Amino acid sequence: MSEKIIEIKSLDVFYGAAQALFDIHLSMDRGGIAALVGANGAGKSTLLKAIMGLVKTKNGTIRIAGADCTGSNAIKMVRKGLSLSPEGRELFGELTVRENLVLGVLPLKIGKAESEKRMAEVFARFPKIEQRVEQQAGTLSGGEQQMVAMGRALMAKPSLLLLDEPSLGLAPLITDEIFDIIHQLSRSGVSILLVEQNAARALSASDTSYLMANGRIVDSGDSKKLLHDPALRRAFLGAASENNPDASRLGASGLTNIRLEKDDMSHKSFMPEIQSEEELCAHQLKGLQWTVKHACEGSSFYRQLFDAKGIKPEDIQSLDDLQKLPFTTADDLRDGYPFPLRSVPFEQIVRIHASSGTTGKRKVMAYTQQDIDDWVHFFARGYEMAGVTSLDRIQIAVGYGVWTAGMGFQLGCEKIGALAVPTGPGNIDLQCQLMLDFQSTVFCSTASMALLMAEEIHKRGIADKINIQKIIYGSERSSVSMRKKISELFGGAELFDIPGLTELYGPGTGIECPNHECIHYWADYYILEILDPETLEPVKPGEWGEMVVTTLCKEASPLIRYRTRDLTRIIPGPCACGSIMPRHSRIKGRSDDMMKFRGVNIYPSSIDTILSAIPGLGSEYQVHLSRNEKNGRDSMLLMVEESENCDQSRWKDLADETVHQHKKQLMVTPEVEIVAYGSLPRSERKSQRIFDTRLGEDIVG
Ligand code: ZN
Repeated sequence: MSEKIIEIKSLDVFYGAAQALFDIHLSMDRGGIAALVGANGAGKSTLLKAIMGLVKTKNGTIRIAGADCTGSNAIKMVRKGLSLSPEGRELFGELTVRENLVLGVLPLKIGKAESEKRMAEVFARFPKIEQRVEQQAGTLSGGEQQMVAMGRALMAKPSLLLLDEPSLGLAPLITDEIFDIIHQLSRSGVSILLVEQNAARALSASDTSYLMANGRIVDSGDSKKLLHDPALRRAFLGAASENNPDASRLGASGLTNIRLEKDDMSHKSFMPEIQSEEELCAHQLKGLQWTVKHACEGSSFYRQLFDAKGIKPEDIQSLDDLQKLPFTTADDLRDGYPFPLRSVPFEQIVRIHASSGTTGKRKVMAYTQQDIDDWVHFFARGYEMAGVTSLDRIQIAVGYGVWTAGMGFQLGCEKIGALAVPTGPGNIDLQCQLMLDFQSTVFCSTASMALLMAEEIHKRGIADKINIQKIIYGSERSSVSMRKKISELFGGAELFDIPGLTELYGPGTGIECPNHECIHYWADYYILEILDPETLEPVKPGEWGEMVVTTLCKEASPLIRYRTRDLTRIIPGPCACGSIMPRHSRIKGRSDDMMKFRGVNIYPSSIDTILSAIPGLGSEYQVHLSRNEKNGRDSMLLMVEESENCDQSRWKDLADETVHQHKKQLMVTPEVEIVAYGSLPRSERKSQRIFDTRLGEDIVG
């Protein structure tokens, strides 16, 4: 005998030309209770009718206790051991209770004696209706009618009872009574497939549940787990709990509206199909060969670069040949402004993104539609690795605009079918309000912004009223203490560091995995080399060095051995999380002198420019970047010399002007201290101007 009482595969149902059910997969073990949960019109009743043979199915199979019953009519299904207690009871009001019950055995052609015996069993379960056996069914109360409807279904002694909305229109006390009987039935060995609009009630009463929306099963699993899944609870159950199931908000406006027009994402994965290191290497070599040929044919910049080194595309025969290729740098991008590295005709370019650089010449990257699709795919993969699902609500507090951040987070969110709350950065008041009102479950921002929010949440005392489970943050380094602080103040949220850079599509080029010891990077989209920034020779596996990347399928602006200046190291060996994707440590810093301060990139040269434009200031200055150990916040002290023969009474005005110009031009607010001319140390060679004590901080990984 099959372990499965029912097994449905790839079932479609049409009403005329309109498809009512899509690719339904469902299976139930013997003896349990399974629930179909969803709003009106989600397809629950249609599925029960399809199983019962009351509506025609198209495609797919239905097996009952191992036997193929696809396409059987209702009478055959009753003989196979199925019985349906339909929505709205569907009793014959003019007939007596007895006559209604007898209808339940009609398809079975059993004798009168057996019929009477079964009726006695039904009455044993429902003593209330025995008293009314000769009464017209139409005169009974709603609860009694429900008992007759269930009794009629039980007359056939089903092994699988299909129960459609047993609590519909019943008072809570009567509903409790009906559900007690359902549990007794289950204990006596009857398998029950239950349709119930009250999601909390259905999840509490069943072993497994299938969530339906728009004719699809959108999620399924252990009912108790689903009931206690915070994301699901917020999305579908409102204030309902096991003890207070009637608080469920799930109704006509529940599941259907929230899930409208979304694909079933519950079983979709964005993880690579690659299964082994050999497969990955073969994939990388193919991508490398394509990229070199494509860049050589499409871009005069690359062609000249290769020619100068005497390299031809056919020279690339193995992954080791990568080392024959020349490096590219941020300077190449700036020199090629506005369309550096462009390797396809303009008509194939669908979008431009640029880095939020502080100099006039931004790093501009072009994208074909395929480039966008690739980026979105691996961004969705990152969300997947962080455990974000279509039930999440993602508050995206990163910049939207010409830079890549907002777009990446947004498109990835839409790809996995989650709900986006695109707030953009800043505006702490709005962030808090929407976090409360929309019950966002995921917060995306820079590390600094996450800290600002964490402090504000703490200040307002709302940590227990928000529902942020995960924080995905990127674009700057963060210390262990800072991470700890953010997580604590957010009420225990899990942090995921997400790396990325504009030149390499944008954010999302990898992500911290749930083990929180490393970042998995998408080696099926780019090759990562770790080189000594001085010698540009590969470092030993596990040693720190500069990230150098080569893309494998980027069309509009391919990167070949692009020096990112980011410092990290490869972590050898497999990860306990089981991902095949290789991993690196969280970014430790940059190999050049660019400073990152509260999410803003600052070049010393831009400070030079500002200071030299303010009359009364000297040429010498020092920048002291430090981090407050207690709150993890960075601060910048700018010590600037006055110009020779400047009047000390002007120092305050000079300091104010310096702060003002930094705010205006760099969007940072330094503390400024004007010091006497000649008091800062001088050096014949390059003076050290930047003192970053933050570099001494512990970094994860
Ligand atoms: Zn991992």
